[in-house]
Amino acid sequence: MKIGLFGGTFDPIHWGHLRSAEEVREAFSLDRLLFIPASKPPHKRRQPTTSPRDRLEMMRLAIARNPGFAVSSVELSRPGKSYSIDTIRHFAQTQSSKNLLYFILGLDAFREIGSWKDFQYIFPLCHLIVTSRPGCEDSMSLSRMPVAVRRLFCYDRGKNVYRHKSGTCLFFLKLTAIAISASEIRDRLREGRSIRYLVPLEVESYIKKRGLYRGPQEGR
Ligand code: ATP
Repeated sequence: MKIGLFGGTFDPIHWGHLRSAEEVREAFSLDRLLFIPASKPPHKRRQPTTSPRDRLEMMRLAIARNPGFAVSSVELSRPGKSYSIDTIRHFAQTQSSKNLLYFILGLDAFREIGSWKDFQYIFPLCHLIVTSRPGCEDSMSLSRMPVAVRRLFCYDRGKNVYRHKSGTCLFFLKLTAIAISASEIRDRLREGRSIRYLVPLEVESYIKKRGLYRGPQEGR
């Protein structure tokens, strides 16, 4: 089984997440793509607005009709901060080969990877797929990689991938640009504006039913 791990806050999940995940799943012929909501994201200034239960439920509703997608609650059930290295180690232990595991992250998140806990131990455990995001550059080169990571990879021109000495690869995938962010959705809800066509209808209905994201304006 080729498995993709896609972490994030998903507060709430939106079409930008879903379309990105589908394009990655297709491009890398993944058998399963796991959305992994963070309990306490260590790198966000703001912690999630909604409970893990609500975020999980919205994700379940959003992916229900895609057999290639699943949600994992591994980070929600782990106490403390949600470090990616712990999650990747968890899945690496259950996989027969590191060649079957792909960790997916947006270019905005990848730029910060040098500050992640034990980031250098991530690379030997799985392949990395870095995806484009509107507002970030839509190409990758060694000189644009975070400094802490640059020296750990070399470029394989023939295959157009970056190789780690352990044999794993770092891929860059340019996605259809969908400029939706969860923070914009939260802002809209607080202002009583429409979020139709930014999230699946089931997610929109759930938000309305539970009265989510109506609190005071979040600090930036
Ligand atoms: P927020 O606005 O609260 O920061 P977000 O919309 O960026 O949230 P996250 O849960 O932080 O959502 O994102 C999880 C992952 O999804 C990140 O790797 C991010 O780069 C990627 N991502 C989020 N939105 C998009 C989008 N519109 N297009 C492509 N990738 C996206």
